[in-house]
Amino acid sequence: MNLHEYQAKKILKKWGVPIPDFGIASSIEEVKEIISQLDLDEAVVKIQVHAGGRGKAGGVKFAKSKEEILDAAEKLIGMKMVNNQTGPEGIVAQKVLITRPVDIQKEYYIGAVIDRTTSQPILIASPEGGMEIEEIAEKSPEKILKIPFERDGRIRSYLLNRLVKFMGWENETAKEGRIIAEALAKSFIETDGDLLEINPLVETEEGRLWLVDAKLSIDDNALFRHPEIVSYYDPTQLSHSEAQAKEFDLSYIAMEGNIGCMVNGAGLAMATMDIIKLFGGSPANFLDVGGGASKDQISAGFRIILSDPKVKAILVNIFGGILNCETLAEGVLHAVKELKMHVPLVIRMEGTNVEKARKMIEDSNLDIITAIDLNDAAKKAVEEAGKK
Ligand code: GDP
Ligand code: MN
Repeated sequence: MNLHEYQAKKILKKWGVPIPDFGIASSIEEVKEIISQLDLDEAVVKIQVHAGGRGKAGGVKFAKSKEEILDAAEKLIGMKMVNNQTGPEGIVAQKVLITRPVDIQKEYYIGAVIDRTTSQPILIASPEGGMEIEEIAEKSPEKILKIPFERDGRIRSYLLNRLVKFMGWENETAKEGRIIAEALAKSFIETDGDLLEINPLVETEEGRLWLVDAKLSIDDNALFRHPEIVSYYDPTQLSHSEAQAKEFDLSYIAMEGNIGCMVNGAGLAMATMDIIKLFGGSPANFLDVGGGASKDQISAGFRIILSDPKVKAILVNIFGGILNCETLAEGVLHAVKELKMHVPLVIRMEGTNVEKARKMIEDSNLDIITAIDLNDAAKKAVEEAGKK
């Protein structure tokens, strides 16, 4: 689950890391309150959206007076940001963060992730903050340091020393840097984070460090342990399709191709996408309806797929294990009748009660193409998508 910058900052503050004062507003009235509460004569005003690159997209404004703060907030509340991270639909900012500005001497990057190859949490740090880490990794990989830390969030002191040296921190800055790194590692573990990014962590002329931006995303499987974080969920940041998928408990990810896929099981969904590619097609989405999909979930799945205008054919690939094929066939027939499919539908089923299910589909006299196996199904779907 992704969090907003202001939510991440609120959480991180509990670990005592230095974050400039801030307030959060969704109306000009609230902006005025923040200005007087924090006694601001200048501020940085930032849109709150689930996407990075706000600076470049015009979503971060520097205001030099109270009037300019109000002016910036007026422009940014309700702003729609569109970049490669938001997708072509863009995301609308419902809220802005208003924060006390920091005089920046130097920008650093520090983040935490789980390294899946070593099965360990690691800190990733770079003295070249401000840019995206992917860009640093590409242009100057030697400017990135990765250090592992313990599963309780502790960092071994020799590794902390290495980090401090790599960042070029000395004296008081080094002391503060150590405390920040330790707090970040601890907070990452205790919130069950799967990604934490401070970009930039900044140094002032006096050698003080501040967290100016924060991104935190939490492992969905651990959310039950964090009721407060669950309450931070913001459905306005999801596309209509993603919100629908969430409502019906479907795993859905939109992609670039034109073949809609409806599959049960994540592994089978990936195999289906691979085989579509193998036959020269391109999947429009990843959609896992789950092991025990119901009629309603199947209908919701079709609605989501059909709402994507790129879709020129649909491939349903289901293995009837927990979900028996008859239930699936019932769901599919119901959806086809209800939704007026405007694209060809190819079905491949295997498993429990498959014979009965095939017969149900044949007897329905609906325009459904059945396939004998996965190769056949992918080939037919690619053919159909190519016809339009
Ligand atoms: P992002 O573009 O979505 O990552 O948003 P950031 O919060 O990182 O802001 C973009 C850039 O604005 C940062 O890299 C900083 O250079 C700058 N910035 C943000 N806050 C401040 C601030 O308080 N003072 C100054 N001088 N610059 C800031
Ligand atoms: Mn940033």
